[in-house]
Amino acid sequence: MQHINSLEYAQSLDEKDPLKSFRDDFYMPKNNGKEVLYFTGNSLGLQPKGTAKLVNEELELWKERGVEGHFEGERPWFHYHKFAKESLAKIVGAKPEEVVPMNSLTTNLHLLMVSFYRPTAKRFKIITEAGAFPSDQYALESQVKFHGLNPEEAIIELDPREGETTIRTEDILESIKANASELALVMFSGVQYFTGQLFEVETITTAGHKAGAIVGFDLAHAAGNVALQLHEHQVDFAVWCHYKYLNSGPGSVAGAFVHSKHANNPDLPRFAGWWGHNEEERFLMKKGFKPMLGADGWQLSNANVLSTAALLASLAVVDKAGFSNMRNKSIVLTGFLEFLLNESFTKEEILLLTPVDPNQRGAQLSISLENKGREVFDALAEQGVVADWREPNLSEGQAGVIRVAPTPLYNRFEDVFNFVQLLRKAIK
Ligand SMILES: *Cc1c(COP(=O)(O)O)cnc(C)c1O
Repeated sequence: MQHINSLEYAQSLDEKDPLKSFRDDFYMPKNNGKEVLYFTGNSLGLQPKGTAKLVNEELELWKERGVEGHFEGERPWFHYHKFAKESLAKIVGAKPEEVVPMNSLTTNLHLLMVSFYRPTAKRFKIITEAGAFPSDQYALESQVKFHGLNPEEAIIELDPREGETTIRTEDILESIKANASELALVMFSGVQYFTGQLFEVETITTAGHKAGAIVGFDLAHAAGNVALQLHEHQVDFAVWCHYKYLNSGPGSVAGAFVHSKHANNPDLPRFAGWWGHNEEERFLMKKGFKPMLGADGWQLSNANVLSTAALLASLAVVDKAGFSNMRNKSIVLTGFLEFLLNESFTKEEILLLTPVDPNQRGAQLSISLENKGREVFDALAEQGVVADWREPNLSEGQAGVIRVAPTPLYNRFEDVFNFVQLLRKAIK
């Protein structure tokens, strides 16, 4: 698509945008009475206007009926997690029984690693990306130690090549092959939080399986951002949160996927709780855990209803927009941002860490500004730009990064244009 660097052009793209009305479904934060330019949907998505209504319905039910709300009302709490399944399954490319909203992301990662990282004397290694989100690093490290192993020996972290900013798929495949006989688990993020690289889920999964390993993904930055086919691509397990691209509010209930080839195996070891137990007998309070079929068998506790209500409200917006429409717009919107950055700055002024290929990234571009990053970021914030700043984390000598994620539901092409104008001013 050949873009033009002008406000009129940006506005004409907004005019033609089939999703343009969705901005009105969200509350846009303000700074000094003026709407901000919000580009942190990758960190905390904005509040849908329909959220308060759904949360209030559950507060009302609780107020009016107390405990009876478990079995009464439009959405009885006993089954509350099930009301999100259809929509979630579409977003991550799964069967409804393979997904469940529960707990928080890091909790789910631990729970699924209990089932899917089961090292033996021979097979105990994990391949993952270097510079993964810290919670994932800590989860992997502590799981390895929990099994009495040494993280230094068990965890293989892959770096980009010297002078490159993202990891080549061929290098991932090479490492999987080289470590095949000792490999227990391949665990990557879907979209890397720092660089914005979208990993090749299918290729990595196929290679991991060929090596005899289990393959899991942390989709925190991928769910609701890029197209996923977890079932089709044979991914063994995945976890994600809903407060980033899925707009369900701070700390809201997270998601988990267990492929149907594993999910109905009652013998798979797991840490169990009563909500994972066969629901027909859940209230008989009997001894002996019998898991629900599907991902539901990994639940520990009764649903966090208020948080899941907020999730249902945001999923309704995604369903109305259609996820493929969102992704189509996102590709053009981020492509427009990239075009404007390339038009407006020299390679000496800014370096984009994120892959150029739209199939290898989501909404986010990570902009490295050599040593001026922090100053520029602060100047932008003063102008009402909400982006985010990350300290360097990959290799030595790397600069900090401004992450910018225009999202398809509430960001306009005009926002992107205005952002680049302000960035220009801040850098000069
Ligand atoms: C956002 C994010 C998290 C956050 O974990 P919580 O358990 O939700 O606090 C973890 N991992 C990745 C990759 C993330 O992007």
